[in-house]
Amino acid sequence: MSQFKVFVTRRLPVDFTALEQIATVEVWQERQPPPYEVLLEQVKQVDGLLCLLTDPIDRPLIEAATTLKVISQMAVGYDNIDILAATARKILVGHTPGVLTDATADLTWALIMAAARRVVEGDRFTRSGQWTTWEPDLLLGPNITGATLGILGLGRIGQAVAQRARGFAMRVIYHSRHRCPPDLEQSLGIEYSSFAHLLQVSDFITIHTPLSEDTHHLFSDAQFEQMKSSAILINTARGAIVDPDALYRALSRGQIARAALDVTEPEPIPMESPLLTLDNLIITPHIGSASVQTRRKMAEMAIANLIAGLNNQVLPNCVNPAVYSWEQGTGDGLQGSSTTF
Ligand code: NAP
Repeated sequence: MSQFKVFVTRRLPVDFTALEQIATVEVWQERQPPPYEVLLEQVKQVDGLLCLLTDPIDRPLIEAATTLKVISQMAVGYDNIDILAATARKILVGHTPGVLTDATADLTWALIMAAARRVVEGDRFTRSGQWTTWEPDLLLGPNITGATLGILGLGRIGQAVAQRARGFAMRVIYHSRHRCPPDLEQSLGIEYSSFAHLLQVSDFITIHTPLSEDTHHLFSDAQFEQMKSSAILINTARGAIVDPDALYRALSRGQIARAALDVTEPEPIPMESPLLTLDNLIITPHIGSASVQTRRKMAEMAIANLIAGLNNQVLPNCVNPAVYSWEQGTGDGLQGSSTTF
Protein backbone atom coordinates (compact mmCIF):
# COMPACT_ATOMS: atom_id res chain seq x y z
CA MET A 1 0.00 0.00 0.00
CA SER A 2 1.25 3.50 -0.83
CA GLN A 3 2.77 5.21 2.12
CA PHE A 4 2.75 8.80 0.92
CA LYS A 5 0.59 11.25 -1.05
CA VAL A 6 2.07 13.45 -3.74
CA PHE A 7 0.63 16.25 -5.87
CA VAL A 8 2.27 17.06 -9.22
CA THR A 9 1.21 20.42 -10.61
CA ARG A 10 1.47 19.52 -14.33
CA ARG A 11 1.76 16.57 -16.69
CA LEU A 12 5.47 15.75 -17.09
CA PRO A 13 7.54 13.86 -19.67
CA VAL A 14 8.57 11.18 -17.18
CA ASP A 15 7.71 7.73 -15.90
CA PHE A 16 6.15 7.89 -12.41
CA THR A 17 6.59 4.14 -11.70
CA ALA A 18 9.32 4.52 -9.07
CA LEU A 19 7.41 7.26 -7.31
CA GLU A 20 4.16 5.29 -7.45
CA GLN A 21 5.83 2.45 -5.53
CA ILE A 22 5.96 4.63 -2.45
CA ALA A 23 3.23 7.20 -3.04
CA THR A 24 -0.22 7.85 -4.41
CA VAL A 25 0.40 10.36 -7.16
CA GLU A 26 -2.15 12.92 -8.32
CA VAL A 27 -1.20 14.85 -11.44
CA TRP A 28 -2.93 18.11 -12.41
CA GLN A 29 -4.09 17.47 -15.96
CA GLU A 30 -4.87 20.96 -17.27
CA ARG A 31 -2.70 23.05 -19.56
CA GLN A 32 -2.92 26.01 -17.16
CA PRO A 33 -1.39 25.68 -13.68
CA PRO A 34 -3.65 24.75 -10.74
CA PRO A 35 -5.34 27.82 -9.23
CA TYR A 36 -3.91 28.98 -5.90
CA GLU A 37 -6.97 27.65 -4.00
CA VAL A 38 -6.39 24.17 -5.47
CA LEU A 39 -2.72 24.27 -4.46
CA LEU A 40 -3.70 25.39 -0.98
CA GLU A 41 -6.15 22.50 -0.57
CA GLN A 42 -3.64 20.00 -1.96
CA VAL A 43 -0.74 20.99 0.28
CA LYS A 44 -2.92 20.43 3.34
CA GLN A 45 -3.15 16.73 2.44
CA VAL A 46 0.11 15.70 0.77
CA ASP A 47 3.60 14.68 1.87
CA GLY A 48 5.28 15.73 -1.36
CA LEU A 49 4.73 18.48 -3.92
CA LEU A 50 6.29 18.52 -7.38
CA CYS A 51 5.88 22.05 -8.71
CA LEU A 52 6.96 24.41 -11.47
CA LEU A 53 8.03 28.04 -11.52
CA THR A 54 4.45 29.00 -12.35
CA ASP A 55 3.26 27.84 -8.91
CA PRO A 56 3.46 30.51 -6.17
CA ILE A 57 4.62 28.56 -3.12
CA ASP A 58 4.35 31.43 -0.67
CA ARG A 59 4.40 31.66 3.11
CA PRO A 60 0.61 31.22 3.71
CA LEU A 61 0.64 28.12 1.52
CA ILE A 62 3.68 26.67 3.30
CA GLU A 63 2.19 27.42 6.71
CA ALA A 64 -0.99 25.56 5.72
CA ALA A 65 1.04 22.53 4.60
CA THR A 66 1.11 20.65 7.88
CA THR A 67 1.96 17.24 6.38
CA LEU A 68 4.37 18.41 3.68
CA LYS A 69 7.93 17.04 3.88
CA VAL A 70 9.37 18.00 0.52
CA ILE A 71 8.81 20.54 -2.26
CA SER A 72 10.49 19.48 -5.48
CA GLN A 73 10.75 22.23 -8.08
CA MET A 74 11.33 21.28 -11.71
CA ALA A 75 13.62 24.25 -12.46
CA VAL A 76 16.97 25.58 -11.31
CA GLY A 77 15.51 28.95 -10.23
CA TYR A 78 13.21 28.89 -7.19
CA ASP A 79 12.17 32.52 -6.75
CA ASN A 80 8.51 31.40 -6.71
CA ILE A 81 9.10 29.54 -3.41
CA ASP A 82 9.47 31.19 -0.02
CA ILE A 83 12.59 29.30 1.01
CA LEU A 84 12.81 30.91 4.45
CA ALA A 85 9.25 29.87 5.24
CA ALA A 86 9.90 26.31 4.02
CA THR A 87 13.14 26.07 6.01
CA ALA A 88 11.46 27.38 9.15
CA ARG A 89 8.91 24.57 8.79
CA LYS A 90 11.70 22.02 8.06
CA ILE A 91 10.32 21.36 4.60
CA LEU A 92 13.06 20.37 2.17
CA VAL A 93 13.16 22.13 -1.19
CA GLY A 94 14.77 20.49 -4.22
CA HIS A 95 15.60 21.95 -7.64
CA THR A 96 17.20 20.82 -10.90
CA PRO A 97 20.51 22.62 -11.50
CA GLY A 98 23.05 21.68 -14.15
CA VAL A 99 20.94 19.60 -16.54
CA LEU A 100 19.48 22.71 -18.15
CA THR A 101 22.71 24.67 -18.39
CA ASP A 102 23.58 23.79 -21.98
CA ALA A 103 20.03 24.13 -23.30
CA THR A 104 19.68 27.58 -21.72
CA ALA A 105 23.12 28.70 -22.95
CA ASP A 106 22.15 27.49 -26.43
CA LEU A 107 18.93 29.52 -26.38
CA THR A 108 20.88 32.54 -25.13
CA TRP A 109 23.06 32.25 -28.20
CA ALA A 110 20.05 31.78 -30.45
CA LEU A 111 18.74 35.09 -29.08
CA ILE A 112 22.09 36.88 -29.35
CA MET A 113 22.32 35.89 -33.02
CA ALA A 114 18.66 36.45 -33.83
CA ALA A 115 18.72 39.93 -32.29
CA ALA A 116 22.02 40.96 -33.88
CA ARG A 117 21.19 39.66 -37.34
CA ARG A 118 17.51 40.57 -37.20
CA VAL A 119 16.30 37.06 -37.97
CA VAL A 120 12.74 37.56 -36.71
CA GLU A 121 12.34 40.89 -38.53
CA GLY A 122 13.69 39.22 -41.69
CA ASP A 123 11.13 36.44 -41.45
CA ARG A 124 8.29 38.95 -40.96
CA PHE A 125 9.61 41.01 -43.88
CA THR A 126 9.65 37.98 -46.18
CA ARG A 127 6.22 36.67 -45.23
CA SER A 128 4.65 40.10 -45.69
CA GLY A 129 5.77 40.20 -49.33
CA GLN A 130 8.32 43.00 -48.89
CA TRP A 131 11.27 40.99 -50.27
CA THR A 132 11.27 42.35 -53.80
CA THR A 133 15.02 42.68 -54.42
CA TRP A 134 18.48 42.40 -52.80
CA GLU A 135 19.21 45.70 -51.05
CA PRO A 136 22.62 46.93 -49.86
CA ASP A 137 21.21 48.33 -46.63
CA LEU A 138 18.44 45.84 -45.87
CA LEU A 139 18.18 44.70 -42.23
CA LEU A 140 21.74 45.52 -41.27
CA GLY A 141 22.97 44.52 -37.83
CA PRO A 142 26.26 44.56 -35.96
CA ASN A 143 29.05 42.00 -36.20
CA ILE A 144 28.99 39.32 -33.55
CA THR A 145 32.50 38.12 -34.31
CA GLY A 146 35.00 40.31 -32.50
CA ALA A 147 32.36 42.19 -30.46
CA THR A 148 32.44 42.61 -26.67
CA LEU A 149 30.11 40.33 -24.73
CA GLY A 150 29.25 41.31 -21.14
CA ILE A 151 28.02 38.45 -18.95
CA LEU A 152 26.23 39.34 -15.72
CA GLY A 153 26.29 36.38 -13.32
CA LEU A 154 29.05 33.88 -14.00
CA GLY A 155 27.46 30.71 -12.66
CA ARG A 156 26.73 27.53 -14.58
CA ILE A 157 24.82 29.16 -17.46
CA GLY A 158 27.01 32.28 -17.61
CA GLN A 159 30.09 30.07 -17.99
CA ALA A 160 28.45 27.95 -20.69
CA VAL A 161 27.60 31.14 -22.59
CA ALA A 162 31.23 32.28 -22.25
CA GLN A 163 32.50 28.95 -23.62
CA ARG A 164 30.36 29.35 -26.72
CA ALA A 165 31.63 32.91 -27.25
CA ARG A 166 35.13 31.57 -27.94
CA GLY A 167 33.93 30.38 -31.33
CA PHE A 168 33.10 33.98 -32.21
CA ALA A 169 36.46 35.43 -31.17
CA MET A 170 34.70 37.82 -28.82
CA ARG A 171 36.15 39.83 -25.99
CA VAL A 172 34.22 38.47 -23.02
CA ILE A 173 33.95 40.44 -19.78
CA TYR A 174 31.87 39.44 -16.79
CA HIS A 175 30.55 40.79 -13.55
CA SER A 176 29.40 38.43 -10.83
CA ARG A 177 28.87 38.54 -7.09
CA HIS A 178 32.25 36.88 -6.61
CA ARG A 179 35.22 37.00 -8.93
CA CYS A 180 36.04 33.52 -10.21
CA PRO A 181 39.51 31.93 -9.78
CA PRO A 182 42.24 33.10 -12.21
CA ASP A 183 42.57 29.66 -13.82
CA LEU A 184 38.86 29.66 -14.70
CA GLU A 185 39.13 33.20 -16.11
CA GLN A 186 42.08 32.05 -18.16
CA SER A 187 40.48 28.85 -19.46
CA LEU A 188 37.31 30.70 -20.46
CA GLY A 189 39.27 33.67 -21.83
CA ILE A 190 37.24 36.16 -19.79
CA GLU A 191 38.02 39.35 -17.84
CA TYR A 192 36.42 40.52 -14.60
CA SER A 193 34.70 43.91 -14.81
CA SER A 194 32.77 46.22 -12.53
CA PHE A 195 29.05 46.31 -13.33
CA ALA A 196 29.32 49.95 -14.45
CA HIS A 197 32.20 49.21 -16.85
CA LEU A 198 30.35 46.20 -18.26
CA LEU A 199 27.34 48.41 -18.97
CA GLN A 200 29.49 51.04 -20.68
CA VAL A 201 31.64 48.92 -22.99
CA SER A 202 29.59 45.84 -23.92
CA ASP A 203 28.09 45.39 -27.39
CA PHE A 204 25.97 42.53 -26.02
CA ILE A 205 24.91 42.12 -22.39
CA THR A 206 23.47 38.81 -21.27
CA ILE A 207 21.91 38.27 -17.83
CA HIS A 208 22.45 35.03 -15.88
CA THR A 209 21.86 35.88 -12.22
CA PRO A 210 19.01 34.50 -10.14
CA LEU A 211 16.12 36.81 -9.29
CA SER A 212 16.61 38.08 -5.73
CA GLU A 213 16.17 41.29 -3.78
CA ASP A 214 19.59 42.34 -5.13
CA THR A 215 18.78 41.72 -8.78
CA HIS A 216 15.14 42.84 -8.91
CA HIS A 217 14.96 45.64 -11.56
CA LEU A 218 18.75 45.69 -11.69
CA PHE A 219 18.28 46.97 -15.24
CA SER A 220 16.33 50.20 -15.06
CA ASP A 221 16.62 53.74 -16.50
CA ALA A 222 20.01 54.46 -14.88
CA GLN A 223 21.56 51.30 -16.31
CA PHE A 224 20.15 51.79 -19.82
CA GLU A 225 21.53 55.35 -19.78
CA GLN A 226 25.04 53.94 -19.29
CA MET A 227 24.80 51.42 -22.13
CA LYS A 228 25.94 52.01 -25.71
CA SER A 229 23.20 53.12 -28.10
CA SER A 230 24.23 50.13 -30.26
CA ALA A 231 24.00 47.66 -27.36
CA ILE A 232 21.84 44.54 -27.39
CA LEU A 233 20.43 43.17 -24.13
CA ILE A 234 19.59 39.48 -23.71
CA ASN A 235 17.67 38.14 -20.71
CA THR A 236 17.21 34.39 -20.31
CA ALA A 237 17.34 34.53 -16.48
CA ARG A 238 14.21 35.98 -14.84
CA GLY A 239 11.90 38.69 -16.17
CA ALA A 240 11.83 40.92 -13.09
CA ILE A 241 15.60 41.52 -13.29
CA VAL A 242 14.70 44.03 -16.04
CA ASP A 243 12.23 46.84 -15.36
CA PRO A 244 9.82 46.45 -18.33
CA ASP A 245 8.78 50.13 -18.37
CA ALA A 246 12.40 51.29 -18.42
CA LEU A 247 13.17 48.74 -21.17
CA TYR A 248 10.31 50.14 -23.25
CA ARG A 249 11.67 53.67 -22.81
CA ALA A 250 15.22 52.60 -23.70
CA LEU A 251 14.18 50.66 -26.81
CA SER A 252 11.68 53.17 -28.10
CA ARG A 253 14.06 56.15 -27.61
CA GLY A 254 17.05 54.33 -29.14
CA GLN A 255 18.98 54.44 -25.88
CA ILE A 256 19.91 50.83 -26.68
CA ALA A 257 19.54 49.16 -30.07
CA ARG A 258 17.73 45.92 -29.39
CA ALA A 259 16.76 43.34 -26.80
CA ALA A 260 15.78 39.70 -26.73
CA LEU A 261 13.93 38.22 -23.78
CA ASP A 262 13.03 34.65 -22.90
CA VAL A 263 11.54 35.84 -19.61
CA THR A 264 9.30 38.80 -18.82
CA GLU A 265 7.65 40.59 -15.93
CA PRO A 266 4.91 39.47 -15.61
CA GLU A 267 4.73 36.11 -17.34
CA PRO A 268 3.11 35.64 -19.72
CA ILE A 269 3.58 39.16 -21.06
CA PRO A 270 0.14 40.86 -21.30
CA MET A 271 -0.96 41.33 -24.92
CA GLU A 272 -1.49 45.05 -24.20
CA SER A 273 2.15 45.54 -23.13
CA PRO A 274 3.74 48.37 -25.14
CA LEU A 275 6.83 46.17 -25.48
CA LEU A 276 4.91 44.06 -27.99
CA THR A 277 4.66 47.07 -30.34
CA LEU A 278 8.45 47.26 -30.77
CA ASP A 279 10.23 45.81 -33.80
CA ASN A 280 13.60 45.92 -32.04
CA LEU A 281 12.55 43.37 -29.42
CA ILE A 282 12.32 39.59 -29.63
CA ILE A 283 10.36 37.67 -26.99
CA THR A 284 10.26 33.89 -26.60
CA PRO A 285 7.88 32.23 -24.09
CA HIS A 286 10.34 31.07 -21.39
CA ILE A 287 11.76 28.17 -23.39
CA GLY A 288 15.38 28.32 -22.18
CA SER A 289 15.41 24.69 -21.05
CA ALA A 290 12.98 23.45 -23.69
CA SER A 291 14.95 20.70 -25.37
CA VAL A 292 13.41 17.23 -25.35
CA GLN A 293 16.35 15.67 -23.53
CA THR A 294 16.67 18.49 -21.00
CA ARG A 295 13.02 18.53 -19.97
CA ARG A 296 13.11 14.76 -19.47
CA LYS A 297 16.24 15.02 -17.30
CA MET A 298 14.71 17.88 -15.28
CA ALA A 299 11.60 15.81 -14.58
CA GLU A 300 13.74 12.79 -13.58
CA MET A 301 15.79 14.95 -11.20
CA ALA A 302 12.65 16.43 -9.69
CA ILE A 303 11.27 12.92 -9.08
CA ALA A 304 14.60 11.80 -7.56
CA ASN A 305 14.54 14.77 -5.16
CA LEU A 306 10.95 14.00 -4.24
CA ILE A 307 11.58 10.29 -3.56
CA ALA A 308 14.66 11.10 -1.46
CA GLY A 309 12.74 13.65 0.60
CA LEU A 310 9.83 11.30 1.22
CA ASN A 311 12.24 8.54 2.30
CA ASN A 312 14.07 10.88 4.72
CA GLN A 313 17.20 10.71 2.57
CA VAL A 314 19.45 13.58 1.53
CA LEU A 315 18.07 15.32 -1.56
CA PRO A 316 20.48 15.00 -4.52
CA ASN A 317 19.91 18.72 -5.18
CA CYS A 318 18.72 20.60 -2.14
CA VAL A 319 18.12 24.36 -1.97
CA ASN A 320 17.86 24.54 1.83
CA PRO A 321 20.31 22.03 3.36
CA ALA A 322 20.01 24.08 6.55
CA VAL A 323 16.99 21.88 7.31
CA TYR A 324 19.39 18.97 7.87
CA SER A 325 21.62 20.88 10.30
CA TRP A 326 18.51 22.09 12.09
CA GLU A 327 17.26 18.52 12.43
CA GLN A 328 20.64 17.45 13.78
CA GLY A 329 20.68 20.42 16.15
CA THR A 330 23.84 21.86 14.59
CA GLY A 331 22.43 25.02 13.08
CA ASP A 332 19.76 27.60 13.45
CA GLY A 333 17.95 26.16 10.45
CA LEU A 334 18.19 29.31 8.41
CA GLN A 335 21.87 29.39 7.54
CA GLY A 336 22.58 28.72 3.92
CA SER A 337 19.02 29.21 2.85
CA SER A 338 18.22 31.77 0.21
CA THR A 339 15.98 34.75 0.46
CA THR A 340 13.39 34.68 -2.24
CA PHE A 341 11.63 37.59 -3.74
P1 NAP B 1 23.99 29.73 -10.82
O1 NAP B 1 24.95 28.66 -11.24
O2 NAP B 1 23.58 29.81 -9.41
O3 NAP B 1 24.62 31.13 -11.30
C1 NAP B 1 24.12 32.37 -10.93
C2 NAP B 1 25.32 33.33 -10.84
O4 NAP B 1 24.83 34.65 -10.58
C3 NAP B 1 26.29 32.98 -9.70
O5 NAP B 1 27.60 33.09 -10.18
C4 NAP B 1 25.97 34.05 -8.66
O6 NAP B 1 27.06 34.37 -7.83
C5 NAP B 1 25.63 35.23 -9.54
N1 NAP B 1 24.90 36.26 -8.82
C6 NAP B 1 23.95 36.11 -7.88
N2 NAP B 1 23.50 37.33 -7.47
C7 NAP B 1 24.22 38.23 -8.15
C8 NAP B 1 24.24 39.64 -8.17
N3 NAP B 1 23.43 40.36 -7.37
N4 NAP B 1 25.09 40.28 -9.00
C9 NAP B 1 25.93 39.57 -9.78
N5 NAP B 1 25.96 38.23 -9.81
C10 NAP B 1 25.12 37.56 -9.02
O7 NAP B 1 22.64 29.62 -11.65
P2 NAP B 1 22.45 29.09 -13.16
O8 NAP B 1 22.19 27.63 -13.16
O9 NAP B 1 23.55 29.64 -14.01
O10 NAP B 1 21.06 29.81 -13.51
C11 NAP B 1 20.96 31.23 -13.46
C12 NAP B 1 19.50 31.64 -13.51
O11 NAP B 1 19.01 31.40 -14.82
C13 NAP B 1 18.56 30.82 -12.61
O12 NAP B 1 18.51 31.37 -11.30
C14 NAP B 1 17.23 30.90 -13.32
O13 NAP B 1 16.46 31.96 -12.76
C15 NAP B 1 17.60 31.24 -14.75
N6 NAP B 1 17.22 30.17 -15.70
C16 NAP B 1 16.33 30.46 -16.69
C17 NAP B 1 15.99 29.48 -17.61
C18 NAP B 1 15.02 29.73 -18.72
O14 NAP B 1 14.26 28.83 -19.08
N7 NAP B 1 15.02 30.89 -19.33
C19 NAP B 1 16.57 28.18 -17.52
C20 NAP B 1 17.48 27.95 -16.51
C21 NAP B 1 17.81 28.95 -15.59
P3 NAP B 1 27.37 33.48 -6.51
O15 NAP B 1 28.12 32.29 -7.03
O16 NAP B 1 28.17 34.39 -5.69
O17 NAP B 1 26.05 33.11 -5.88
